[in-house]
Amino acid sequence: MNNLLLNSHSLVTQTLLTWFQENQRPLPWRKEYRPYHVWIAEIMGQQTQMERVVTYFKNWIQHFPDIPTLAAASEQEVIKAWEGLGYYSRVRNIRKTADLLVQKYAAGLPDNESDLLALPGIGTYTAAAILSIAFNRPVPLLDANVERILCRLDDIDLPVKQTATRKLLLQRCTDLLPHDKARNFNQALMEFGALVCTPKKPACSTCPLQEHCRALALDIVDLRPVPGKKEKRIDIAMACAIIQNNDRFYIQQRLEKDVWGGLWEFPGGRLKESESAAQAAIRELIEETEFQITGLQPFTTVVHHYTKYRVSLEAFFCTLKNPCATTPTLHAASQYQWVQLNELPNFAFPAGHRQLIEKML
Ligand code: SF4
Repeated sequence: MNNLLLNSHSLVTQTLLTWFQENQRPLPWRKEYRPYHVWIAEIMGQQTQMERVVTYFKNWIQHFPDIPTLAAASEQEVIKAWEGLGYYSRVRNIRKTADLLVQKYAAGLPDNESDLLALPGIGTYTAAAILSIAFNRPVPLLDANVERILCRLDDIDLPVKQTATRKLLLQRCTDLLPHDKARNFNQALMEFGALVCTPKKPACSTCPLQEHCRALALDIVDLRPVPGKKEKRIDIAMACAIIQNNDRFYIQQRLEKDVWGGLWEFPGGRLKESESAAQAAIRELIEETEFQITGLQPFTTVVHHYTKYRVSLEAFFCTLKNPCATTPTLHAASQYQWVQLNELPNFAFPAGHRQLIEKML
């Protein structure tokens, strides 16, 4: 690398560090950079907006102030504190990891990559985030914000998600990284991408990196980064049955191994080809519980978007044919309960079912 580029890199690094010092948001895990806090914030932050992360993080730390408290909590308490963030395998992994940390690491997080990668739910990115942000180790960190800034600064015209591009970007990060300030530098890049060099309408006119930005000089900021192929959204149609018996509603807890494992639900599932939503609701109900029902009435349809899927869930009310036969034969759940309407919010449900409950209340 020639001296000119090295100088430019150190100027970019210095500018970002100064900008971060003056403009960083006062996020709760930035008070002390406790490894436990950084770990939880990182897992919560995947695919979630920062304001939501802050709200959930504060609530989480109130419930589970340290790793031993988290390890001792019941699965339901932990899932309830996560409800609404989605991707529930993450929270189950957090709990498993908390157990291991208590058993093997005196309730702290290890400070090396191989031990971190051996923990459930911690991959290369999260390990790098914990090492650099919590322990200030010189490990580069590449997220979508960082990719975007570097592609614009260096005018990289390769599709950003390709392995070769990511390798190039990781090398750029490594070149820019000041070895004794990894914590601040990695956060500075991510924060700068979130607040200044944003995906749409970046604040180029006031950007402190203007003179280093090739995309700005070439007036092609909108063309960087070069996106990869867009994945098609998949539509999924589902139906469920809300059984009411006197003043109680039937709910069941999903099996651990299933999607949304451990969460509660009204029985239901995907529509088969050429099946109506009402037919699917009845079929699923019988397959899952063996209940005999009557009086099926349409209630409402809710739509929920996941990263790759758009799920529309059509819900029906019904009652038991025999109001005394309240014990199901469970085929797709670990346990069940009959609960009153005002008790429903005490249980953790997938997003679509939560929307239904909001409409019922
Ligand atoms: Fe991003 Fe614009 Fe700054 Fe370039 S000048 S780094 S595109 S905000």
